[in-house]
Amino acid sequence: MKDNVSNIPMVDLKAELKSIRTPVLEMVSEVLDSGVYIQGEKVEKLEKIVASYVEASYGLGVGNGTDALLLSIKALDIGPGDEVITTPFTFFATGEAIAEAGATPVFVDIEEDTYNINPLEIEKAITENTKAIIVVHLFGKVANMKQIMEIAKTHHLKVIEDACQAIGSEYEGKRVGAIGDIGCFSFFPSKNLGAYGDAGFIVTNQQGLYEKMKMLRNHGSEKKYQHALIGMNSRLDELQAGILLVKFNFLDTFLQKRKEIANRYTESLSSFLKTPQIYNNRAHTFHQYCIELDDRDKLAAYLQDSGISSAIYYPIPLHLQQAFSHYNYKKGDFPVAERTAERILALPISPMLTSIDQTKIIATVNEFVERL
Ligand SMILES: *Cc1c(COP(=O)(O)O)cnc(C)c1O
Repeated sequence: MKDNVSNIPMVDLKAELKSIRTPVLEMVSEVLDSGVYIQGEKVEKLEKIVASYVEASYGLGVGNGTDALLLSIKALDIGPGDEVITTPFTFFATGEAIAEAGATPVFVDIEEDTYNINPLEIEKAITENTKAIIVVHLFGKVANMKQIMEIAKTHHLKVIEDACQAIGSEYEGKRVGAIGDIGCFSFFPSKNLGAYGDAGFIVTNQQGLYEKMKMLRNHGSEKKYQHALIGMNSRLDELQAGILLVKFNFLDTFLQKRKEIANRYTESLSSFLKTPQIYNNRAHTFHQYCIELDDRDKLAAYLQDSGISSAIYYPIPLHLQQAFSHYNYKKGDFPVAERTAERILALPISPMLTSIDQTKIIATVNEFVERL
């Protein structure tokens, strides 16, 4: 046992709040005093600002990132009998939204370096029932969009980008989310832009899809008590929109901080561990900084003993989840995703991570590797 065990968390939202407390509390008061709590001017303002940030024509605040995916799938009229191709190496919600819409998720393996869907595997999985591809930009690392968009065009498939972890990430100078037909974002508290509760966002460049999703998020209604579609209740509330407007002002600074922390990790660790591959034509926003090694579990335990948190995203690929057992996938179906799930480890990378704490993390990882 070591003495003076300080705890370095994965994210420290309390520390982050400390740095922005005054404007956040002012905003909360303003919204409470306005008497408007649903579908007010804060949501409208946020929709304009975020859509313009990701260079999309239209933006919609919704209840959360999972609903953003579900609303997108519904807006594209995808349901029972339809197949949607996606990655098994993502948060459960990506596959869940497809199944919740009544469609069938069809998983294909990932690329070793991006951890994202492998375009070469997509074509093999296309059938006459395939309607769309859901691309995930996992950890803020951008998928191979050029090839994916080409395949979609050739086979007349829609592309939904699950950019829940990737606000601000870029592919060839274009912000993700606005490259495919529809882009989905999550503002879950620990995401790179996080609310203080659940919140999500949808972007598109297509007016028809925008209008349809705007209705779908509000009971399929455009005019009060007139319901043209069967939708759902998935509105972003004014308080969260107000908080997000305040936090949006810090987004670029916080993303820059993540990049600096990531660069230092890479400089210090890349000679003896697999660190994130950097591509010239893609801007990674480091929602997570993941390394890979055989002795992953031992390193996680060693870090824990030194008071350092780490996390595994994600330990069980979607095709091996119990909830999806009726699709009859088995271990061995997607070797890259399965191997990655056994070797990957995320190190703390919140913008609040101090340089002293990062020095300690790097030194501890070094210490562990030297003992092997
Ligand atoms: C967070 C996340 C979601 C779901 O977002 P919620 O706001 O939590 O519903 C979906 N996909 C990915 C890749 C995510 O990281």
